[in-house]
Order: sequence, then structure tokens, then C-alpha cells
Amino acid sequence: MQQKGHIGVTTDNIFPIIKKFLYSDHEIFLREIVSNAVDATQKLKTLSSIGEFNGELGSLTVKVSIDKEKGTLTISDRGIGMTAEEIEKYINQIALSSANEFLDKYKNDANSIIGHFGLGFYSSFMVSKKVEIVTLSYKEGAQPVKWSCDGTPEYTIESVEKTDRGTDIILYIDDENQNFLENNEVDKLLKKYCRFLAIPIAFGKKTEWKDEKSVETDEDNIINETNPAWTRKPTELTDEDYKKFYQDLYPFSDEPLFWIHLNVDYPFKLTGILYFPKIKSNVDMNRNKIQLYSNQVYVTDSVEGIVPEFLTLMHGVIDSPDIPLNVSRSYLQSDQNVKKISNHITKKVADRLEEIFKNDRPQFEEKWDSLKVFIEYGMLTDEKFYDRAQKFCLLKNVDGKAFTFEEYKTLIGSNQTDKDGNLVYLYTSNKDEQFSYINNALDKGYDVILFDGQLDVHMAGLLEQKFEKSHFVRVDSDVVDNLIKKGDEAEVTLTDKQKEELSETFKSQLPKIDKVDFTIEYKALGTNAKPIQITQNEFMRRMKEMSAMQTGFGLYGEMPDNMNMVLNVEHPLIKQVLSEVEGKDTEAINAYASDNAVVRQLIDLALLSNGMLKGEALSNFINRSIKLI
Ligand code: ADP
Repeated sequence: MQQKGHIGVTTDNIFPIIKKFLYSDHEIFLREIVSNAVDATQKLKTLSSIGEFNGELGSLTVKVSIDKEKGTLTISDRGIGMTAEEIEKYINQIALSSANEFLDKYKNDANSIIGHFGLGFYSSFMVSKKVEIVTLSYKEGAQPVKWSCDGTPEYTIESVEKTDRGTDIILYIDDENQNFLENNEVDKLLKKYCRFLAIPIAFGKKTEWKDEKSVETDEDNIINETNPAWTRKPTELTDEDYKKFYQDLYPFSDEPLFWIHLNVDYPFKLTGILYFPKIKSNVDMNRNKIQLYSNQVYVTDSVEGIVPEFLTLMHGVIDSPDIPLNVSRSYLQSDQNVKKISNHITKKVADRLEEIFKNDRPQFEEKWDSLKVFIEYGMLTDEKFYDRAQKFCLLKNVDGKAFTFEEYKTLIGSNQTDKDGNLVYLYTSNKDEQFSYINNALDKGYDVILFDGQLDVHMAGLLEQKFEKSHFVRVDSDVVDNLIKKGDEAEVTLTDKQKEELSETFKSQLPKIDKVDFTIEYKALGTNAKPIQITQNEFMRRMKEMSAMQTGFGLYGEMPDNMNMVLNVEHPLIKQVLSEVEGKDTEAINAYASDNAVVRQLIDLALLSNGMLKGEALSNFINRSIKLI
């Protein structure tokens, strides 16, 4: 028998379209053909299990082989095969997928059946000048047939010799794609796309070292793991299994902190394991480490749009046949199923974190520094996650003690409430640089939160919105007495003239610091407080910090830092300086100040305790100090 026909598509010639536009990545043809072979094999297993196929299953390994001389890449399976009629229906009439029909028929048993990659089979024409299908159906009395097509809409179908059940797909690789005839290339692709397929895939034979060279053995070289951890029941798996799977996915990585085994059947199918990686430093965040599979077929490792943004910091595997493939990212983001999946994952992650927090708080606290960035990122970007995470999100103070939001509120409630009834949360962004300010606050009996992570500024802003009557204030944003205003400020009794004289004295001696402006302030802080302190307004500083992190705040980023130089008018040294400049004109004040070690020493000490004394100014300070001794 030989028969010719036209492939039944509406467009006259679909092949150029397939070649050029269908997939940007040519290499995925291998995924499509191998997963069709796996499908056909799983279908046969299903038929066998429900008694509709009574023959010997035998070995079901799918074999991939290269024939360099013929220029072919062949994928052979021992699955259900196809009759001539089925080829007509499933191959010739493109876009008619048998998967739906099959699923319909065997709804209850066909859970493991896959196949909605659209024009899967035809993707082979992206790399082939000719494709042959040689196939024998499992059905009794079926005749083997060969279908052949050279990349035009014409095909031939004819009788052929074939005794073994199943299908060989023979690709005659075209001139531009000869790399798909290289062992290394095919091996690499099989490992990428087929590594966890559910039916064994053999690529050549295993080799062994014999007589100082590597020789082939009789044993198939199986490239996949048919029962990867995420497809197994959590109860069957030990911690070691989870850790080992992580190592398989990301060789040479540190051990993960925790993992979450996802397993949903309804209203969508989703399985997978997500890991919280250990984060070494804030910059070392590796995104796009989550691999997306569809029934164990690798699809992509860029999961934005499917997984909520903050969870792209996690690692692991998600497997769902319900995620539409080969569609654009923007479509994905609006797809209802995908939204549900994304919400579900978020919920599961929150559940798991809460569970660890409740059952093993010491462990949770120990790992907090690595977890923090996920949790904060999630809270900042996902309202629902915030609601869940506020129960277990921790605030750590400078002593390393960790508190939940509720606990911390209780801790500071009595001591850190200002005269208007606002709760003031004090924090530091740098324990070393703000050391003296932290000490001042601690001396007053206040507690100081350590907020030195990269999202902490944003967190402060968020928590201020969420917590009622609360402010977050950095320890160096004002003198300690004013950080939490308990009563009215002590009055400064200087005249305007005196203020001007003091201002002139100190301003004239300030070293020039790039992009920093100083405003002199006068405060009556008592004789025990420092004579001069440098502070920076909380609001201005936050604006600048935000601008450094995101665009749209550019204006603030360009502006100089506005610092306050606070003179304590009750300190004896300030009083002394004032008494010495009172009544002098500007010129005389400048002459006095430039000659006066006290003025310059006071300024430098204030800059120094703020980490702002550098370079030449620092070396001048040291020399002057030595002289003073
Ligand atoms: P899909 O896999 O999405 O159905 P394909 O174009 O990849 O689309 O395949 C079309 C149909 O051809 C399949 O549904 C299946 O019925 C049949 N088919 C493809 N490859 C094989 C195979 N190796 N063995 C049996 N049937 C196959």
C-alpha cells in the first residue's frame, strides 16, 4: 500500500511558520518527541492495568540514538503505537490531539497521561529536512506503517516491516542543525528536559574503563530518574532524601534551610518541593532557580508570573499540568489557574513557616537571618502574606534577642511611648557607625532594633502604616532626649544675635564634606549631654535611602544629605565659646574660631562619632589631639 495526501491544516504551508516562529528555542523538539514517546508508553501501561491490553509489556525503555552516517536522530518507544487511521487522525489533521479523547474515555485511570504541548510532534520540523514515523499499534491484527514527510504539506504513508510494538520517530537532521547529531549536545538536552521523565530513557550504552580505554557495556545508559522526590509521598521521604534531591538539582550548594512539599489535586494539579536556600549575603540572591515541570517534563526555569515574585528567591521544583505552556508571560499572569496556583503556593509557604515557628522556635530564630529577606519581601509585596507572616515575623534587637511584633510591643510599651501616645520604635541600621547613639538610647532604658538588612528601610515604612500610632525612628535622627518626646523641650534662652555668633563660629570651621549640608540647631540638653551631636532627620534620610533603591525618587537622590549639628547650649564648653565670641564681628569671629582648638576639636569629635571624619580632616584632628596632650 502507498498513499499520498495533504496534511490537513488551513494555512497552505505551515512548515515555514513552524520552523521560524513556533518556538524560539529549536532544541525543545527533543522534549516534545521524547515526551510523546513517554505518553504513548504510559498509555499502554494504563491500558494494561485496566485489562484492555493483555500482551507482554516487556521493557518499556524509550531509546534515543544517533546515526551519524545517515544523519538521523531516532526516538523509539514500545508504547501503544499507531494504526494508519490514527496517523491520519492524530498526525495528519494537525491540532487534533488524541490526549483529550483518551482522557475522556479513561477519566478515572488516566491520571498519568499527559500531552498538551500543542503542535508537539511538528516541532521536529524545526531541525529536520525529513521525518519518518515507523509504527506498529498494540491493537490485535494491526499492520505496521511508515509515514514520511519532507517538510512540505505532502506526506506519504506506506506499509513497512516492523515486528515490535511501538513507534520509531526518525529525524533526518537538516544542514543548519547538525549539532543535534553530536552525542554531547543530545546528552545535554536529554539531561535538561528529560531528567525526571516517568519512563526510563536510554541514550546509548553505559561505558566502563577497560585496558586503559573506555568501552561500551551491554547496559543501557539511562539518563533519567523516573521517581523524583516530588512525585513521591512526603511520608516516604526522609530529611536526607530531601537534601539529596536538593544536591541533585543544585550541586555544590549549601544545605537548604527548610523545604515545603507541595501536593494539590483540586482545583488544579500541582506537586513540587520548594526549598529555602541558605543566603550567604544579601547580594547573593539567586533568582530563577525554581524549575517548572509539566508531568515531569522540564519546561522552564523562569517562573516569574507563576510564582509570586518574592518566592522566586526560593529553589526547587514545581510540577503542574495546569499551567498553560508556550504562551506569553503576560498571558500567564492574567490566567486564573495560574493566579490560583500562585496564591496556593504563597499560602503553603506561610503555613510551613508558621508551623516551624510554632513547633521549633529556637530553630526558626537561628535561621532567621537567612529567612528574613524572603519574609520581608513577601510582606512588602503581598498583602495576604503580610497577614499571615505578622504572626511569625521577628524583630531582632541589638543584643540579638528576637521578638514577634506583639512581644516587642509589650516590651517597649511602657517606656517608649511619647507624650502624644505614639509608640516609638528605635532602630539602628549600622551597629558600628551608630554605636554612640545606640549607647545613649540603651542608657535611657530604651530598646534598639537592628535593621541592617537591605529591605529594612522599606519594612520600617510598612510597619508604620500597619501598626497603629507608631513611629520608627533611627537612633541618630535626633538627640536622645528628643527621640521619644516625653514632655515639652527645655527652652533655649539665647538671643538671635547669640545664635548667629555661635553659628558663625562653628560653621566657619566645618570641614567641606561632599554632598552634605549642615544646619546648626540649638538645644538645652543639660550639662551631662554631649556638647555637639550630629543628627539626620528621619524623613529626609528615608527619602534618600528609598531613592537609592528605586527609580522615580531621583530628585531626592541628587540632593545633598541634610544633617543637623546640634549645639547643647547648656554644656560648659559651648557656654565658654559663646562668652568668647559675644559682641565680635564676623571677621573677628572667624579669626578666633580658626585659632581655637576647642571649637575645632568639638566639631571633629561630633563628626567622628558619626563616622564622618575622614581623609585630611581626620589626620588634622589626630595631629591637633596630640598637640593638646
Ligand atoms: P500532543 O502530544 O499534544 O497530542 P503532538 O503533535 O505531539 O500533540 O502529537 C499528536 C498525536 O500523535 C498525539 O496525541 C498521539 O496521539 C500521537 N503520537 C505522537 N507521538 C506518538 C508516539 N510516539 N506513539 C504513539 N502516538 C503518538
